[in-house]
Amino acid sequence: MSILGFDVGGTKISCCVGERDGSVTTRIERPTSEGMDGNEMTRTLISLGNEAMGLAGIEVPEALGIIFAGFIDQRKGMVMSSPNIPGIQNFPVVNIMSDFFQSKVYLENDATAAAIAERIFGSGKGKSDFVYVTLSTGIGAGVFSNGKLLKGSRGLAGEVGHMVVSESGHQCGCGRRGCLEAMASGSGIVKRTLYRLPGFIGETLLRSIPEKQISAKFIIEAAYSGDRFSKEILDETIRYLGIGLANVASIYDPQLIIIGGGIMQSGDRFFNAVKKSFRDEAKGVQRSMEITRALPDISDLAAISLPLYYGRNRKS
Ligand SMILES: [Zn+2]
Repeated sequence: MSILGFDVGGTKISCCVGERDGSVTTRIERPTSEGMDGNEMTRTLISLGNEAMGLAGIEVPEALGIIFAGFIDQRKGMVMSSPNIPGIQNFPVVNIMSDFFQSKVYLENDATAAAIAERIFGSGKGKSDFVYVTLSTGIGAGVFSNGKLLKGSRGLAGEVGHMVVSESGHQCGCGRRGCLEAMASGSGIVKRTLYRLPGFIGETLLRSIPEKQISAKFIIEAAYSGDRFSKEILDETIRYLGIGLANVASIYDPQLIIIGGGIMQSGDRFFNAVKKSFRDEAKGVQRSMEITRALPDISDLAAISLPLYYGRNRKS
């Protein structure tokens, strides 16, 4: 029997069909529309699910795993809110999907789910203490501590994107100022860039395209192609990430930090710079802490992992 895995993110929504061994046979995605609310999200999930099942030739899924880039309430089966998908508030997605597909549905925050996937399929295998950090439109983390998933009193543990790394920094979607997410996530990088761009005297590739098309990926590529302004933004970003990861290491004392998310697709050069920034910032034993990259296609595996993990391990 196959598992349907859904990923609801700030830029795209995807659905995959996967097996218990982590193999993925079918995968489709659509862009997240601006202003998407809970009903629209559910309509998109159902339509993607039907299409994926048709392509994979399955009639009934064994179970569904849904990962969401924001706050969730697992007990109520609801997606609560997301700084990057502001139209969604307190929406009971689990019941609706479960009624429609007649299957058990498991919901989890995307970064926590990715940590679960790394624990089952990746470098978290056999590790009792590790942190998965996602660098994407937002920044989040999933934490295994002493062999268990760290949840917190309301299931919100590991929201490392909302620790402040710059007191005078930009406003964050959560209401605070200078959060790691506001400074170094995909959306944070773009926000900082657009804020600084008008004051930059000199030539920059960033003025060669419409502002709306400026993405974190474009900025990082421009920096690596020698664009001076983009390089300034990138250097600051890497510095904030080094501070953030060193804080993560201080709080959780993990054996390993795994970094994933769309921004990590910027290649080895970016990853190595982040690693170096962490090493410069971290002190003592933390400096030798292992840092590695996430499994490729981690979001598909994250969604598929949920029924595997919670199905046999309900209480954690
Ligand atoms: Zn924040």
